[in-house]
Amino acid sequence: MERKNAWLKYDSNARKTINFFNEGYKTFLSNCKTERECAAEVISQARDAGYLDLEEVIASGRMLAPGDKVYAQCMGKTLALFHIGTEALEKGMNLLGAHIDSPRLDLKQIPLYEDGGLALLDTHYYGGIKKYQWVALPLALHGVVVKKDGTVVNVVIGEDPADPVVGVSDLLIHLAADQMTKTAAKAVEGENLNILIGSIPVEGEEKEAVKKQILAILKEKYDLEEEDFISAELEAVPAGQARDYGLDASMIMGYGHDDRICAYPSYKAMLALENPERTCVCLLVDKEEIGSVGATGMQSRFFENTVAELLNCAGQYSELAVRRCLQNSRMLSSDVSAAFDPNYPEVMEKNNAAYMCQGLCFNKYTGRAGKSGSNDANPEFIARIRKVLDDADVSWQTSELGKVDQGGGGTIAYIMANYGMEVIDCGVAVQNMHAPWEVASKVDIYEAFRGYLAFLQKI
Ligand code: MN
Ligand code: MN
Repeated sequence: MERKNAWLKYDSNARKTINFFNEGYKTFLSNCKTERECAAEVISQARDAGYLDLEEVIASGRMLAPGDKVYAQCMGKTLALFHIGTEALEKGMNLLGAHIDSPRLDLKQIPLYEDGGLALLDTHYYGGIKKYQWVALPLALHGVVVKKDGTVVNVVIGEDPADPVVGVSDLLIHLAADQMTKTAAKAVEGENLNILIGSIPVEGEEKEAVKKQILAILKEKYDLEEEDFISAELEAVPAGQARDYGLDASMIMGYGHDDRICAYPSYKAMLALENPERTCVCLLVDKEEIGSVGATGMQSRFFENTVAELLNCAGQYSELAVRRCLQNSRMLSSDVSAAFDPNYPEVMEKNNAAYMCQGLCFNKYTGRAGKSGSNDANPEFIARIRKVLDDADVSWQTSELGKVDQGGGGTIAYIMANYGMEVIDCGVAVQNMHAPWEVASKVDIYEAFRGYLAFLQKI
């Protein structure tokens, strides 16, 4: 049962390959901080690799054949890549799934106001955050504003070194006597996560002169009016690049490892795939952090409908074939695991914890209390996966999310399992999960890529 440190498998030459792979990941993580940015980047890379837009295929009336590669996207925030295999689709597909939304501060619909001679933006946090972690650090604004005429304005402020950053203030320690007696959940209130964005007033204006100055800047730079915030999706995220972490540069610190650390190796494995027998899929979804709801969340019919379209384009459609295709599929539902943290050993049970540098991490079940809400994967499926990974010399481990009754969490696995397919949770171990800056091991990211590729080819 001993699991070796995955670095020990690799000589200095192989470690260069690992580092090269991770340079690509760091770039992805630094540039793609919203679900839209992730989806657009993956689609662009997939197109370069020969993937066609399924909608264009449908419109052209062209039939799909084994070897063809197509993608479908939903509202720019969720997407699926398909590489069609030689086997009939009703035999099932091999799926890799991950999510591309991450915890952050979303702007409210009417966000802009002035108080104390300062201009601020009101936010509503998205996903599970420790609010006290999101103060006193540089934030960037990413997202879109859609004007009444339908024009979509892309916004990224705070990433270019020449850009200003914004942020949420924290109370100075000197006056924090009351705050310091509060519980961590209450020390910083959600309603107080207001972003400071300006302080110069427009000359000669008496009312809201600073706010007016900010509006003038938005008008000049983006041609935006105050009312345009109402149809915007603007996300405040930690500003700056993903960085090497540790004196040996063996890890990466970045915003949004959860769950781009699984999304990246998943789509890279798809792009590396050649001549699959079973049709292979990479599914990257939105809204996981708030329960997989909405049209772009995993609970939406988007994926099921897309599979029906795919079968139709492949000349294999019937309602029964769609149902068989989904039921006979096998899936890795990938999401981050909690890495064992020597600073907080008390929440882990050491034999069933995830460790950094021990490779791709499998969770037979997630959930809370008595496995509530979890997809409890079948041992028959786990045995097949063990064989595939061991044959490919992939480093892997198993874990659960902390001690029994310590807490818990969920993923998209149980939703896909509703089709009757085999699904298991797996992913990469991460420290500081859901903090503005999360940490993960480079070798684990690489093992995830190798494991995903082996799964697509052999499961
Ligand atoms: Mn999460
Ligand atoms: Mn996640």
